[in-house]
Amino acid sequence: MSVGVTSLSLTDMKEKLKALIDRKQLASLEACVRCGICTESCHYYRSEPRLEHTPFYRAEQLRRIYRRLLDPIAGRFQRRGDSGTASAELLRRLADIAFSTCTLCQRCTLDCPFSVDTADIMRAARSLATATGSAPQMLVELADAAIVKGENIESFKDFYLDQVKELEKQVQDRLGSSRARIPVEKEGARMLYVPLSGAHTIVPQAVLFNLAEESWTLSLFETSNYAYFLADTSRASRIAQRIIAEAERLKVEEVVITECGHGYPVMRWEVARWLGRRLPFRVRSVIEVLDEYLQKGVFRVSPKGNGTPVTYHDSCNLGRKGGLFEEPRRIIRAVAEDYREMNPNRIYSFCCGAGSGLVAIPEWTDIRLRAGKLKAEQIRRTGARIVVTSCDNCRHQIGELNEHYGLDIEVTSLSELTVKALV
Ligand code: SF4
Ligand code: SF4
Repeated sequence: MSVGVTSLSLTDMKEKLKALIDRKQLASLEACVRCGICTESCHYYRSEPRLEHTPFYRAEQLRRIYRRLLDPIAGRFQRRGDSGTASAELLRRLADIAFSTCTLCQRCTLDCPFSVDTADIMRAARSLATATGSAPQMLVELADAAIVKGENIESFKDFYLDQVKELEKQVQDRLGSSRARIPVEKEGARMLYVPLSGAHTIVPQAVLFNLAEESWTLSLFETSNYAYFLADTSRASRIAQRIIAEAERLKVEEVVITECGHGYPVMRWEVARWLGRRLPFRVRSVIEVLDEYLQKGVFRVSPKGNGTPVTYHDSCNLGRKGGLFEEPRRIIRAVAEDYREMNPNRIYSFCCGAGSGLVAIPEWTDIRLRAGKLKAEQIRRTGARIVVTSCDNCRHQIGELNEHYGLDIEVTSLSELTVKALV
């Protein structure tokens, strides 16, 4: 991690904290009575019971900085000799906790009698760490690389188009039709589909869009937004605005986000709030589109295509925060013979342990595998051989949990599961 906090004066730190923390976050900080009721809600604590893994311990680290720098009463009695260096130490510790031991999953809020939003407090902590130069360097570089790429997109265009042509051949082979297409920058298409960089977020969806005779297009941009993990609204807006600009230029009616846990909330509700304006198009997840196709009988599927037991992991962003609980379950029941619920599920689902950027930091592999123990145990109890999830981070993490905990499972997406059931 890059640590630049010691170079900040106490006044600078105060100003940054004042600018970054909002009233809701302050209310959460003040409302917590340290009762500990939320302790068992956290997957870190359930996997490894330690004081440092309780939600209130994490929030306490920001509370201490707030009291030291901004609290009007505590400030009057601040010890002589309190220095910027002492606050910088607290800040460095806060950054470590906020980025590596809280996935901002919001499950603890469900059990708090005062609805204290620890995830939101940790988001404020991430913002402060980012603004003071103590955020993980890897996330900063990934966010900056996306911005640079967006500014120089023409130099990537030919390479991208060649890649898409290769993927188009795979779609044609799968459908047995040379007429199948993956359109790029098609003006007037009904839908702009925004994938991730992997072929698994383009090929199966393109198969289904072609079968449905959908009016769709890709642009040159993908949905990942690492600045969102940094809680850096300014950089996250810049990255998201590339998609908005493409949707407006191509005059689409809706933007459809691939199976991505953080890409969906960024476009569905965050970016409009950051920019202070309504988006001139609808935003949906591709799982809502697939669910609609299946409900309307747009193409034929058979559950026999997926005969082995299947379970579903609710991503925190799509499920608890986004409310997409029934759509994935309707899809799985339509395309698989033996669906088994993980317990607890839906709004009470536990985080897989890799959310909010943890999966991007190699040094934290051990932390996230330990935090994923609870999810691994849940999966094992279902007896399922296929785990479906609609978030690429969750997919990556559950794939690693499979190897680490010997689960003997296959991890896949709803789109891929649906393609296997086509008749
Ligand atoms: S966050 Fe809520 S449940 Fe947890 S310790 Fe604070 S008041 Fe209690
Ligand atoms: S938001 Fe999730 S990871 Fe963070 S403290 Fe709460 S339950 Fe734990």
